Amino acid sequence: MKSLFKNIGIIEFDDLFSTDERCFEFLAGKKWENGFICRKCGHTNYCKGKKPYSRRCTKCKSEESATAHTAFHKCKLPLTEAFKITYLVCNNPDISTYKLSEKFNIRQMTCWKFKKKIIECINQRGDIDIFEKEALTKEFIE
Ligand SMILES: [Zn+2]
Repeated sequence: MKSLFKNIGIIEFDDLFSTDERCFEFLAGKKWENGFICRKCGHTNYCKGKKPYSRRCTKCKSEESATAHTAFHKCKLPLTEAFKITYLVCNNPDISTYKLSEKFNIRQMTCWKFKKKIIECINQRGDIDIFEKEALTKEFIE
């Protein structure tokens, strides 16, 4: 989960995350890299959900989107832009939100808020952890 965009060059990045679809795919891949566990009931079987790359528990039918419990949850920006800003901020935490605002044609306040969120996700090692801190399966391990 850590070192999210490490060692990815800018051209490679643009290519990898050129569409929202690809961003969703990436998030889902990271989120469920150790398999799917339903947050409601702990069941591990799933089927496709309604949203792109979301997963639906086959037992209790609860659906989890690829962005739920990540820094991109309820993000108002298109995912491709949010990913790009995340990438730029990770590579240069001092980047000006006015610059970002100009580059992406997004309100400066929106950029500022999103940048703040990303900065909060960068841990002491300098890696970004876009997932919420709580252990994914905490309730079910006890
Ligand atoms: Zn379930």
